[in-house]
Amino acid sequence: MRSLIKHHAGPELQLTDRPKPKPGPREVLIRVKKVGICGTDRHIWEWDAWAAGRIPVGIITGHEFVGIIEEVGSAVTNYKPGLRVSAEGHITAWKDFNSRTGNAHIASDTKIIGIDRDGCFAEYVCVPEENVWPVHASIPDKVAAVLDPLGNAVHTVMAANVSAKSVLVTGTGIIGLMSITVAKAAGASRIFATDIDPRRRALAKKLGAVEAFDPRDNAWINQVRKDCRGEGVDVLLEMSGAEPALAQGFEALRNGGTAALLGLFKGPIKFDINKLVIFKGCTVLGINGRKMFETWYQMEELLLSGRLELEDIITHEVPLEDFKKGHGLMISGEGIKVVMSVG
Ligand code: ZN
Repeated sequence: MRSLIKHHAGPELQLTDRPKPKPGPREVLIRVKKVGICGTDRHIWEWDAWAAGRIPVGIITGHEFVGIIEEVGSAVTNYKPGLRVSAEGHITAWKDFNSRTGNAHIASDTKIIGIDRDGCFAEYVCVPEENVWPVHASIPDKVAAVLDPLGNAVHTVMAANVSAKSVLVTGTGIIGLMSITVAKAAGASRIFATDIDPRRRALAKKLGAVEAFDPRDNAWINQVRKDCRGEGVDVLLEMSGAEPALAQGFEALRNGGTAALLGLFKGPIKFDINKLVIFKGCTVLGINGRKMFETWYQMEELLLSGRLELEDIITHEVPLEDFKKGHGLMISGEGIKVVMSVG
């Protein structure tokens, strides 16, 4: 099968031929239709310090996909070939404390497809049946291919409880933009955004932000505080992983507000925790992955409500063979979400 692999301990990927995998007794084999290129895939492509320390050479990359079940293992009873599915890419043995208490998304034994085991940038991928998510018939392939990052946005917004609250989104990358449309659909009263890229600021406003600021001029913080009873926003959704944005976001957050942090920082950072967390008395939530499977049900409800605007976020579609172009569009910033067609 055609497979995109990390062929050496260095940049780029290679399209190569690999044997079609056999599903284990409790796994399903999925024929991949479309895949999403993630920011994580960009790190793997560029082979930064994180990728070099985590990604095994030879692995098939990719973790966002939609496809059709081709074959099921001997012990699989829930699913049959022919079903259109996506999957939760975080795989756990369902044995540790968190898996057994409703928090499998932070299980200590998590293995991620396309990172710790073969992923979906290939004609076929195998996943455990517990991870399968049947896709509703009214959700198009292009959207079904990106349920993984959309789930990150849904998880963050739902964890922060945004209904009838003012919300600030710092960083409007893919998940930041998704979180604007999700927060709007979930009943946020007003949404503010920050990003250094004017095109993304414009898109943030199109998706429902009342104002989108260039964070390089600090004046926006006072404007937002003034607009929000002179105290600041109720909720901060930190999506940038940029050190200055984190401090700015907490400056703009009201005392007693809630901050949900999803953006990943390059490494340890400097942050005035006394002033910005303790004396503010705010709640800080670390967000990882998607809740299994509460987030997936919430995401399906939001998609079926017709209130999510994803058309402008999925900017490009290319065939798998054009993977260099696809990853290039992500790296240059020209593409926001790039989807590749596999079969
Ligand atoms: Zn992803």
